[in-house]
This record gives sequence, structure tokens and C-alpha cells, in this order.
Amino acid sequence: MADETNPFHIVQGQLRRAVDNLHLGQSVYNLLKDPMRMIEVAVPVRMDDGRLETFIGYRAQHTDATGPTKGGIRFHPDVTIDEVKGLSMWMTFKTAVMGLPYGGAKGGVICDPAQMSERELEELSRGYIRRLAPMMGPEVDIPAPDVNTSAQIMGWMLDEFDRVRGQHLPGFITGKPLVLGGSEGRTGATGRGVVFTVLAAAKRIGLEVKGATAAIQGFGNVGSYTAHYLHQAGVKVLAVEDVKGGAYDPDGLDVPRLLKYVEKMHTVRGFPGSQEIDTRRLFGLEVDILVPAALENQIDEENARLVRAKIIAEAANGPTTPEGDQLLASRGVFIIPDILCNAGGVTVSYFEWVQNTMGYYWPPQEVDRKLRAMMTKAFDTVYKMKQAHHISMREAAYLVAVHRVAEAAEARGWVRRENAMEIPSDQLQAMATPLVDPALQTAHSQAPGNLG
Ligand code: NAD
Repeated sequence: MADETNPFHIVQGQLRRAVDNLHLGQSVYNLLKDPMRMIEVAVPVRMDDGRLETFIGYRAQHTDATGPTKGGIRFHPDVTIDEVKGLSMWMTFKTAVMGLPYGGAKGGVICDPAQMSERELEELSRGYIRRLAPMMGPEVDIPAPDVNTSAQIMGWMLDEFDRVRGQHLPGFITGKPLVLGGSEGRTGATGRGVVFTVLAAAKRIGLEVKGATAAIQGFGNVGSYTAHYLHQAGVKVLAVEDVKGGAYDPDGLDVPRLLKYVEKMHTVRGFPGSQEIDTRRLFGLEVDILVPAALENQIDEENARLVRAKIIAEAANGPTTPEGDQLLASRGVFIIPDILCNAGGVTVSYFEWVQNTMGYYWPPQEVDRKLRAMMTKAFDTVYKMKQAHHISMREAAYLVAVHRVAEAAEARGWVRRENAMEIPSDQLQAMATPLVDPALQTAHSQAPGNLG
């Protein structure tokens, strides 16, 4: 029996349902149910005390039907093969729902970065890439940051890859420091994207954003930027939590001050003027918007019963178990599914890769405008699919994504979709024109000599 918290089994179930709903047939399911390549590496690191330790790492490359595989690298003691496999598949569906020219991948190393020195982390990052370099590259497989990996780690990884290849290949990795070819807006992109989807969802359910309330679990890269942009949009963030503890203020936390506090203290716990709060209480708060931004399986059936929010914005990957999901859906909670909600990161990673390819860089406003356009358009595409077929946002996102991947696989001659469901092209807009920027579109249609 499938384990209800195993990300690989969960995503296989999601794929199964989408394949069945689209009548794509068993071959499409068989093609996509496993990563096309799964690599395990052992990385020796000389520790500061002189010992040589070996760390086990993985890289799952799910499918390259729609382009080079793409996905982050996670450093965490609980990394498992199945977690990495599941996350790589979610990446495929995430890039597909956004219409990006990528397949999915994910990497993970079993380690506890909190117990390692900077030098040990650098050696581990370089060693991991040395092992994987023959199977990676800007046109093959492109990594990025994830849990516990930063722009600095991307910088070390890029340097190692460049040394191995004897070339400068900035498009090998995204989320790297600006000075090495990183993109403006990448660090905050996932949180920024989360908030664009929250704004779109609020509009659909008639929720006034100004003065709305939110709670956020996880206060790392994604959680903290989500808090920042929600605050900017006029939302009151009542509670936040990280692995060390929580902070709650019924009148709304002072987010700018909280961000400064976390920079110094590396936790939200003990934020002056706030009350302590634990996970269960946070999930049960009477807020409009709940943002899980930590790890998988946080909203299980038990926690789902506590939820009183109107919108759940899945900033983390796989934060809701299938049983939790069912319970929330039956209660009419509007869930923005992870493969759509947190796709802002990979979207700006795509912008970064495009800029690296051109060797020409965009200002922050341009990145932000393009990100907003793409997130809003992807949201609208999924919403339209949901309305057309009377299904949840998650199912709709999977229909959009799996349809696109299957279409690419068929165009390559890998599979045949015999009795596939016809989807009107207007429901698939986001795939056909991934980068139509409304501002550019207007400029073009108004340009003299444009007869189209
Ligand atoms: P991060 O390492 O920067 O932050 C993780 C946060 O979660 C930390 O604040 C940590 O203390 C907290 N946390 C961990 N376990 C917790 C627990 N049991 N209870 C409460 N808090 C807990 O990682 P991140 O990059 O912000 O990623 C968070 C999630 O978002 C992950 O699921 C990741 O896969 C997903 N994601 C990240 C990106 C990205 O661009 N970084 C993009 C898409 C999705």
C-alpha cells in the first residue's frame, strides 16, 4: 500500500488521477511514474577535526520531454531517495504548469548543515557537483537552491562546475550571486510568486486583501519573503513559526522589525512583544490566509481539522497530505496547489538562465513585471480549467501540467495518446505563449507597420 506521507507515492497518485482524467492511457503513466535517471553519490569531506566523512547525496532527473531538467538541491538530515524522486516529479509538473521549457529534477544530500562549518559545507557542495558534473549542464540539468542551500552554495557549485569543464557556464545553475550572473529578484522570487497567486485567489473568492490576516509556517527564504510581500500588500501577518518556535501577535506582527530580528537571532522565537505559538495553534488560527512554507506533510488529516483559513497558499512543496487535502476540499477551503503557488522561484530561475544565455541582464522592475505576468496567467489558466471541469485547483493544475508533458512526449514519438480528452486551446493558453508580457504585447500591437 502507498505510504500516505511518502512524496514519491503521493505524486504518483496525483499523476495517476490526471492521466485517467485526461484519458491518456497506461503508457503515459508508465513513462512518467519514475524518474528517467536516479543518481546516488558518496561525497568525502575532510571535517575540521581531521576525520574524513562520507555524505550520501542524490539527484533525480524525472523527464526531459519538455527541456533540460531543472530543480533545487536540498541539504537536510531527513533526505531520502523517495523524497528526492517525488520532488523531481513535482518539478516537472511545476515547470509544465508555468509553460517553462524545462523538465523536472531534484537533488538532496543527507547532512545537517547546522552542525557543519562553512568550510565543510563548501567542500561538500563542491564534491557533490564534481560527482554529478558528467550528468549536468545548462542544456542537460540545471540545479538551484532549496531547503538549507543558499546563493553562496550556488556560487561554490558553479565555480566547481566551471573548473571541471574548463569553461564559464553561468547557465549551469540558478539562484547564484548577482556578481556571477544571478538574476535580480531571484532571492525573493518564490515568496513574491506566492503573494501574486494569493492576490489572484483573493480576487476570485471576493476577499479584500487590505486588512486580511495570515499565518505562516516556516520562516526561511520562502516564508520570510512571503511575509514581507504580504505585509506590503496590506495583509496583517498574525503568526509565524520556524523549527525553533513561533511568534504570535493578535494585532499583527511588525514584519519589517521581525525580519531584522531574524537576521540577528536566526529564529522568530522570542520576538519582542510577541506570544509563543506552536504548530497546531498556528494552523488553527482564525486567519484568512494560511501559508505552509516549511516542509512536506505538515497539514495532515489531524491538522486539517483545525484549519479555519479561507485560502491555503502552498508555498512549500507537498505540505498537504492527500487525506488532509480531501478534508480541506470538502470544507471548501481554496487551496493554491504547490506546483502553481511556489513556481515563482523556478520562473525567475528561468529568467536567470535566459539572461545567462544572452549575456544581457534585466533590471529588477523588468523581472518583477514578467514574473507577475506569468504567475497571474498561470493562475488564470488553472482557474479556468477548474471552472470548466468542476474540479479542485490541484486537479486542474495537474490536468494542465500532465497534458503538456504528454503532448511533448508524443511529439517526440515516445508515446501515443489514443483517446485523449480534447482540451480547448483557450484553456491551455499559458503553455502556448509562456512569455507574453502584457506590456510588450500592447507595445507590439501599437507599433507602426504591425499589420497583424
Ligand atoms: P529554508 O531552509 O530557507 O527554510 C525552511 C524554514 O522552515 C526554516 O525557517 C525552518 O526553520 C522551517 N522549518 C523546518 N522544519 C519546520 C517545522 N517542523 N516546523 C516549523 N518550521 C520548520 O527553505 P526554503 O527555501 O524557504 O524552502 C521552504 C519550502 O519551500 C520547501 O518545501 C521547499 O522545497 C519549498 N520551495 C523553495 C523554493 C526556493 O526558491 N527556495 C522554491 C519552491 C519551493
